[in-house]
Amino acid sequence: MVARVIPVSPFDLVIFGATGDLARRKILPGLFLRFKSGQMPEKARIIGSARSDFDSAEFRKVIGAAIEEFLDEEHRPAEAVTAFLDRLEYVHIDAMGDTGWSDLKAILRDDVIRTFYLSVSPSLFGAIAERLSKHRVATPEARIVVEKPFGHDLASAKALNADLLRYFMEEQIYRIDHYLGKETVQNLMALRFANSLFEPLWNATHIDHVQITVAESLGVGGRGGYYDQSGAMRDMVQNHLMQLLCLTAMEPPSKFAPNSVRDEKVKVIEALDPVAPEDIVRGQYRAGRDEPSYFEDAENPDSRTESFVAMKLKIANWRWAGTPFYLRTGKRLRDRVSEITVVFRDPPHMIFPNPMEGRKGNALIIRLQPDEGITLRTTIKEPGPGGMRLTEVDMDMTFADALGSDLHAQDAYERLIMDVIRGDQTLFMRGDEVEAAWGWADPLIAGWQESGKRPVPYDVGSSGPEEALMLLHRDGRRWRPIGD
Ligand code: NAP
Repeated sequence: MVARVIPVSPFDLVIFGATGDLARRKILPGLFLRFKSGQMPEKARIIGSARSDFDSAEFRKVIGAAIEEFLDEEHRPAEAVTAFLDRLEYVHIDAMGDTGWSDLKAILRDDVIRTFYLSVSPSLFGAIAERLSKHRVATPEARIVVEKPFGHDLASAKALNADLLRYFMEEQIYRIDHYLGKETVQNLMALRFANSLFEPLWNATHIDHVQITVAESLGVGGRGGYYDQSGAMRDMVQNHLMQLLCLTAMEPPSKFAPNSVRDEKVKVIEALDPVAPEDIVRGQYRAGRDEPSYFEDAENPDSRTESFVAMKLKIANWRWAGTPFYLRTGKRLRDRVSEITVVFRDPPHMIFPNPMEGRKGNALIIRLQPDEGITLRTTIKEPGPGGMRLTEVDMDMTFADALGSDLHAQDAYERLIMDVIRGDQTLFMRGDEVEAAWGWADPLIAGWQESGKRPVPYDVGSSGPEEALMLLHRDGRRWRPIGD
């Protein structure tokens, strides 16, 4: 199947932090791929900005090198790269100073969509928003995109929201969580709300429990200092896992419109029961044969920050009463996997005389990575003679196979940036949503800090601490193996 490309309207996209890691690794290569696909119209332009004293020619060189470094050769034909680089300009601005803003204003056009992408530290969001307004660079129709982390706790998230809302309306603000740009995440909504097959079963009567796993095989080396101030809860659960939980658990919105979807997501967070201490496991990875321990990576031998967390959540509403959601995420685990597993209840009465031993039952597995796709685990008759014996098979749909390699190559950033240009906020977090998620996470983190308890150790390449396995065992359930 060939993806249908609908060009967006002409735009000027200003990227602050255009020389940084994220811009070079994801944003600009992603924009190049959109350009190559024909989605960027003739009049679309990208204006990079940072403190580095480049001119546009030097900036194009930097981005040309980044495209070469981060995209496979087959995806970057030289002609297309040259044509794309022609669309780039550079303006030298220190976000904390007042020079350069008039140069930026002078090159922006009035008849195209004006977007500012803040790929810089959140400590600069307020300063940039203020200067965009003060120097009259932002117009009432302009859009502003901000990167994660959006706050460190509820107070800092509120302060960031206030900083942005002083100069921009909520309808102009796009808070990125790149998990929401993944094809499978959007497909979760299509699966639930565009089919009649699953939604009637999508409740506590038919679903035994849900597992959300975001496992990484790498440690925190390289950014250990930053990570040690954050931990798995702040870095992954409060944002990415919470978003996946919301999309899985939310009520059907009345329409697929930004505020209808986001209203339903906020309701899920508000319905979460307080989490009992025995329903949370925090872990830290030990040293492996060749790998450093968490303490060494974090350069903090006394660290109490978790590199792994697993928890059992209860959503106190009619749909989910009695169906727990188990979340886990961690570093240096067995494999790099992100998936949602919806485990259905057993049939009410088994008519077959030889029910399969070790039968796991029906499950819908929604894979975000490595191979985005959906698997439906079903029970069938074991083929061949020998009576009515049962076995389980996975009906697998990997999007790359089903939809072709063009779609497979797309990255979440590509989709999300095009959504910003289209003015569609559905896949971006609203201010109250971020605050609700911090409001939920803050007391848990405060409780850990008060108790001073150390996270439990786990082995490199494992599925996390034993205690996390017990979290399900004691309920008579099992985690889906990581990297199954
Ligand atoms: P980075 O590599 O440190 O880049 C920061 C960028 O900001 C550079 O272009 C830097 O260029 C510019 N900058 C710094 N101070 C400035 C100032 N006063 N005025 C104007 N520009 C300034 O950081 P990054 O990894 O790209 O991350 C950027 C943001 O994205 C952060 O909020 C980060 O948390 C978030 N994020 C990053 C990733 C990732 O994979 N890297 C993933 C998710 C979210 P000059 O030094 O030339 O000014």
